[in-house]
Amino acid sequence: PDTSPGRLVGEDVRVPTAGGGLTRYVDLDAAATSSSSVRVARAVQEFLPRYSSVHRGAGAKSRYTSARYEAARETVLAFVGADPATHETVFVRNTTEALNALAFRLGLEPDDVVLTTAVEHHANLLPWRRAARLRVVEVGAGGTFTAEDVVAALDQRPTPRVLTLTGASNVTGWLPDLAAITAAARERGVFVVVDAAQLAPHRPIDVTALGVDALALSGHKAYAPFGAGALVAPRSLLGRGEPLLVGGGAVRAVSFDDVVWAGAPDRDEAGSPNVVGAVALAAAAEELAEDWPGLLAHERALTAALDAELATVPGLRRLGPVTGDRLPVAAFLLDDLPHGLVAARLSAEFGIGVRSGCFCAHPYMARLLELSEEQVRAFHDAARAGEVRLPGAVRASANRGTTLDDVAALGAALR
Ligand code: PMP
Repeated sequence: PDTSPGRLVGEDVRVPTAGGGLTRYVDLDAAATSSSSVRVARAVQEFLPRYSSVHRGAGAKSRYTSARYEAARETVLAFVGADPATHETVFVRNTTEALNALAFRLGLEPDDVVLTTAVEHHANLLPWRRAARLRVVEVGAGGTFTAEDVVAALDQRPTPRVLTLTGASNVTGWLPDLAAITAAARERGVFVVVDAAQLAPHRPIDVTALGVDALALSGHKAYAPFGAGALVAPRSLLGRGEPLLVGGGAVRAVSFDDVVWAGAPDRDEAGSPNVVGAVALAAAAEELAEDWPGLLAHERALTAALDAELATVPGLRRLGPVTGDRLPVAAFLLDDLPHGLVAARLSAEFGIGVRSGCFCAHPYMARLLELSEEQVRAFHDAARAGEVRLPGAVRASANRGTTLDDVAALGAALR
């Protein structure tokens, strides 16, 4: 294997095809999970023999482990441009856990309004739906909304307590105008949350400049392995109230009658943390921050190549916007073929790994596929009866490890 720095682990893995041969695996499912980078793998390898218990261990290895864990928090803050004087990193499993914890910690009342959008991943929808009343910024026919649409929703009464939106769509790669949107929300005193699961591995983020209050991200989409994500939030919020998960490490004193919670960020990290994951996530963040211009140039070329390849496939219908600055992500349908069949044949015959379905964004997919309310209701009834086959699409998504040859291979296979 090629383990030169800058590459991803497993880039040259070969997989069997239906024809009986072996072919290079073409990974076009980066929006779901990216392979680890060689540098992250090395950081993990180096750390494995050196770690021991974290936090209150007195031994040298324990103190080293605690130092690396706390340093990883600082790295994540710097990576997203958060001010360490006001913000904290809480390590969680992933974006889903971060957003669940945040929705819980904001102490919302059932009548509070949370403003969100129709493009959100379920991770940025369900925790808020449970905690408060949702107001949704709708998408137009092209599958996008404007900053003005968000402003209009912000100005409806009652004023929302929270605005939560994704930095980039996991379905279409579309990038909302985050700067204009967050500025308008801040002017109105609304707490701003960004789901950066997709944005963080692809674009530099400056939460201080944007006026973002809280942000969630997942290491496994950003060249680190599974199981480590981050919630970046104001220390003032994290330092008060009960955490979502309770247990050891989150407390200063416990009796049967009383609990004194720890300060931030320990209060939100009950149980032994994933220190190896935090070290991996920090290594991935450091590596990303070293060469944004290089990454952006490569990924913009990939987006253009995806657009050009897919435009030449007869019978292919793209979903969502195909102009403007976007991540290298494309959702599409091929003639009237079932999306699952297209994805399965790309894998079996060509060694190309894509994803098909609804991408954990059912409301957005319903809009992109222009489903009627009756159709959506029918699918819900079928789902309630145990049916799992939903309408959907095929999604190809690329990242640093993707080459222009990979994109060309997709085009050729589809044609
Ligand atoms: N938000 C977005 C935009 C995503 O793409 C994803 C992952 N598909 C998530 C949230 C959830 O991330 P995780 O599964 O790591 O919790």
